[in-house]
Amino acid sequence: MKPLQIFINGRWTDSVSGNHFATINPATMEEIAQVPRGDKADIDKAVEAARAAFESEEWKNFLPADRGRIMHEIARLIREQKEELIQLETRDTGKPLAQAAVDVEVAARYFEYYAGVADKILGETIPIRSDVLDFTLREPLGVTAHIVPWNYPIQIAARSLAPAFAAGNTSVIKPAEDTPLTALRLAAICEQAGMPKGTVNVVTGYGSEAGAALAAHPDIDHITFTGSVDTGTEVMKAAAVNIKPVTLELGGKSPNIVFEDADLEEAAQWVVRSIIQNTGQTCSAGSRLLVERSIYSSFTSMVKANMEKLRVGAGEDNPDIGPIISEKQLQRIESYMEVAQKERATILLGGKRCEEVGNGFFFEPTIIDGVTTDSRLAQEEIFGPVLVVLPFDSPQEAVKIANDTAYGLVTGVWTSNIHKAHWVASRVRSGQVFVNNYGAGGGVEMTFGGYRKSGFGREKGLEALKYYTQVKNVAIKFQI
Ligand code: NAD
Repeated sequence: MKPLQIFINGRWTDSVSGNHFATINPATMEEIAQVPRGDKADIDKAVEAARAAFESEEWKNFLPADRGRIMHEIARLIREQKEELIQLETRDTGKPLAQAAVDVEVAARYFEYYAGVADKILGETIPIRSDVLDFTLREPLGVTAHIVPWNYPIQIAARSLAPAFAAGNTSVIKPAEDTPLTALRLAAICEQAGMPKGTVNVVTGYGSEAGAALAAHPDIDHITFTGSVDTGTEVMKAAAVNIKPVTLELGGKSPNIVFEDADLEEAAQWVVRSIIQNTGQTCSAGSRLLVERSIYSSFTSMVKANMEKLRVGAGEDNPDIGPIISEKQLQRIESYMEVAQKERATILLGGKRCEEVGNGFFFEPTIIDGVTTDSRLAQEEIFGPVLVVLPFDSPQEAVKIANDTAYGLVTGVWTSNIHKAHWVASRVRSGQVFVNNYGAGGGVEMTFGGYRKSGFGREKGLEALKYYTQVKNVAIKFQI
């Protein structure tokens, strides 16, 4: 199999070292492609290209409306090539075809959404005195670095590339080593859509090599990172040395809070959906279920019944639940089952590998009961289809438990009482709150980001543009 190439300065090229690595389908262990193992030398070239593009007269004179046109064209091309992109994403991540289809459409939506705003990034005039015109310019930062995780490869690459490009930055993307394929295809689409050379560069490689080199590069102007708290900490440290701003999206331990007065049928369906989407490998997964004690056992049974119906399988067969991304991640999930056993928690459902499905990395949908709030099971991001259930006796206690982790990404509230809904929404510490839904379709328009260790900076929506621009104040004194 001929290795793929990376995309630097508008050209497809091998890595400087000539090394590459295999990417596999986690449902079958089949090798899909050989991918360049980019490292510091390639990152240096990519940043140099992005810098040269950013400083070029061509880019300075590029009309914002033309950036918007290119982005509309990218959205069109993503949709035109969607069948191929869906297949590629499914094979690389193992995720069900239906989920990959959503991801590809959302990627197109990011470009479409920010295309519309490329020529509407406005400054303001500030009244000072009659002989001074004071105004602000919202300018691009320069070269933006994008370190992308493996759970939503094309969606998350698009999520930050689109606003960065709309605002006039040039970019270097480092996809995750487990799932590099759709980022390379996205680069090809950007090229086809007419992005000027050097404005987008994609370097595949390992986190400890290419990722670390990109985070530590002195000539980047911003880093967007999505992934683990530990790696986010390393990225932030590297950025601190060069005084570079970061946007960190570091996952969560998000609760669904279910009150006895909720539409329980509806809530039970959403609770399941929010934990099994992408096999629980979702930063905003609803991984804690907080249930009012009066309905604790009946509601937990409803959730269990819904979860029992789910089909685990290879993404290409479009099951409800696909595989875990890698052996490393699967072992990590298994280590939490050992914690459950040690703590004498009750595994109500699942709790082990799903070997009958095939030789991929499959894990059964799992529910764990009898967990204390300070248990690692209730505190840490497991990143698998593992739901932990906890009872509460009052809205106050529900909020206390909801806020009792280091994270704060999303909260789901299920109640028919508007007062209770507002009260809880006002008191939980999380970047998003959903009442009687979870995710609201995952919209690109909604501000998204974490409180506390879930990270900082905001993505999606118009809010994201603030993180890809900087404000210059200009004061002009005039007289005749
Ligand atoms: P990770 O944080 O190590 O990897 C995410 C990205 O960072 C990848 O592109 C990786 O190549 C890169 N990276 C790794 N080390 C780097 C470094 N030193 N400098 C710069 N970039 C680096 O995540 P992981 O090890 O693949 O997964 C571990 C855990 O992280 C998961 O179990 C889950 O809890 C969490 N995670 C969260 C998300 C999310 O969406 N928030 C996504 C993936 C993983």
